[in-house]
Amino acid sequence: MRKREKISVITLGCSKNTVDSERLLRQIQLNRMPITSDPNEADTVIINTCGFIEAAKEESINTILQAVELKNKGKLKKLIVAGCLSERYKETLEKEIPEVDVFFGTEKYQEIIDELGGKFKYELLGERLLTTPSHLAYLKISEGCDHPCSFCAIPLMRGKHKSIPMEQLINEAKLLADKGVKELIIIAQDTTDYGKDIYQKKNLAELLNKLSKIDGIEWIRLMYAYPSHFPDDVIDEIATNPKILNYVDIPLQHISDSVLKSMRRGVTSKQTYKLLEKLKSKIPDITLRTTFIVGYPNETEKDFQMLIDFIKEIEFDRIGTFTFSVEENTTSYILGDPISQKEKERRRRVLMEIQSEISYEKNRTFVGKTLKVLVESKESDYYVGRSYRDAPEVDGEVLFTSNKKIKFGNFYDVKIFDCDEYDLYGELII
Ligand code: SF4
Repeated sequence: MRKREKISVITLGCSKNTVDSERLLRQIQLNRMPITSDPNEADTVIINTCGFIEAAKEESINTILQAVELKNKGKLKKLIVAGCLSERYKETLEKEIPEVDVFFGTEKYQEIIDELGGKFKYELLGERLLTTPSHLAYLKISEGCDHPCSFCAIPLMRGKHKSIPMEQLINEAKLLADKGVKELIIIAQDTTDYGKDIYQKKNLAELLNKLSKIDGIEWIRLMYAYPSHFPDDVIDEIATNPKILNYVDIPLQHISDSVLKSMRRGVTSKQTYKLLEKLKSKIPDITLRTTFIVGYPNETEKDFQMLIDFIKEIEFDRIGTFTFSVEENTTSYILGDPISQKEKERRRRVLMEIQSEISYEKNRTFVGKTLKVLVESKESDYYVGRSYRDAPEVDGEVLFTSNKKIKFGNFYDVKIFDCDEYDLYGELII
């Protein structure tokens, strides 16, 4: 086999794709095939695509076309495309981009290794070649989704909800801890649905508790928690278990009942308020991250005003805002796209401007306090890290100075003396 040929894996999209690529990379490594992070050096390029919304699809297509260019210049022997975009549009892509040697869907590890002439090692599927900094790793606890959200194409690409058996996840997490991982970020399409299919009950709390017993794992961060039927035992586990960070990412998407109904979110504004009150009362220093969609077809100016009032009242720590993207084969497709992109962008801008003021005021409450910081890099005179309030890539950072030698991937106590709307500034506590 072209075993000596170099392989490069390009990962697009979300952290779930990152985990898929890390599994694939480990299988490539186990087959002693050389890996390069630079596609220009590779003989074979594998692109793990995203097909979620328009912008993501464009990025995937552009990345494929760049690799096709490399191939047309004779610099690349083989081009493989996999992942969500390929899962969703395989036939069309095969016709439109014939230069691609083969298209695979999602989680097609065996097929890809076969295509590379290697031997797939199923028994080692839990092993990963990390692409994140070595002190943190995403742990994907399930794949697919059973929710019928009207705007979302993910179930079309990832199928129905499928939990990964607990012992397999514990084993995977132990392997990661042995490699020096200290922060585990729990991900799925909906993390709160964990276990309902294979254990006939939602048991995310039990999984979090067992993960927290693994030596070396110091921080466990919960992302992608769905708001309806949020398990009380998960709230209690967060409130009582020091290793489970007082941080939750709960994508809410909207607060107006008529929009939530049309979005088929299965939750009302009253239930949303109740959940947030419960979280704040049981975990007073909880950091709340959420995401919203603006410009959904039936969102009126009045609905949008409700969203503005909602974020002013709740004061989330972190917000992401997306503009509605029409997706064929989703149930909202028939509603069309009546709100102009210009108006959607205006609404997104308004919401994020209000949030930046809220975020600044929240950050100011940390001035004078000391935070445990996981240090990741250095930018000019500042060491850069994250506190329990900061998920990687999407939230703020803590920047601090120090005369002492600082080791990346370690925790340090930092006294905060200043902030801006996203980041905190401090000095090392010796
Ligand atoms: S919960 Fe809704 S938005 Fe999230 S992946 Fe499932 S269907 Fe999509």
